[in-house]
Amino acid sequence: MKIPCPLCAATESSEFYRDYRSYRRCDNCQLVFVPPEERLSRNDEGEIYLLHENAVDDPGYRRFLSRLATPLLERLRGPCQGLDFGSGFAPALAEMLRAEGHEVSLHDSFFQPNLEALERRYDFVTATEVVEHLHEPGRELERLWGCLREGGWLGIMTKLVRDQTAFSTWHYIRDPTHVCFFSRHTWRWWAALYGAQLEFVDNDVILLRKPPL
Ligand SMILES: [Zn+2]
Repeated sequence: MKIPCPLCAATESSEFYRDYRSYRRCDNCQLVFVPPEERLSRNDEGEIYLLHENAVDDPGYRRFLSRLATPLLERLRGPCQGLDFGSGFAPALAEMLRAEGHEVSLHDSFFQPNLEALERRYDFVTATEVVEHLHEPGRELERLWGCLREGGWLGIMTKLVRDQTAFSTWHYIRDPTHVCFFSRHTWRWWAALYGAQLEFVDNDVILLRKPPL
């Protein structure tokens, strides 16, 4: 079956797992993805997002976000400009980074559409619990990478695929809005493509740096 990979556009993939939908793994970049015709419509996705939005001041949510915020803040020098992509309804991460003196723009295609923000360049871009929702991760990640200045950081939070056995009982695939599942291999592939410096700073926290000039 020829279904182009939404990350690398390779057409060779094989079924990795199946429940009420199928999950294919790309032979090239090893992204696991739900084929386009088995994904929810944008309207149905929007309704689900409204149900499980987090509050800006929820301490548990802030603790969760700090696993990205802390290592990112350690790497930023001086007051920086950043973009929180997919900031959602309550931009808690942006608030945490602003509290440390950084300027943070927001874009969220559902809650805070701000396409102008994607035309500018930043010292850092964050995307927490976002990439697993993207229907066109190849195009979107390329765009985010283009928003970074040389020496800038792309901070990602997404849970990573381990193997087929773990995948079959994984809570992460039960969310019908999750359609792309990255592994360490996939991130290594992506980093090599863009010449990015890659660090796995936690199980689900990935930092990619655009090399300084
Ligand atoms: Zn691929």
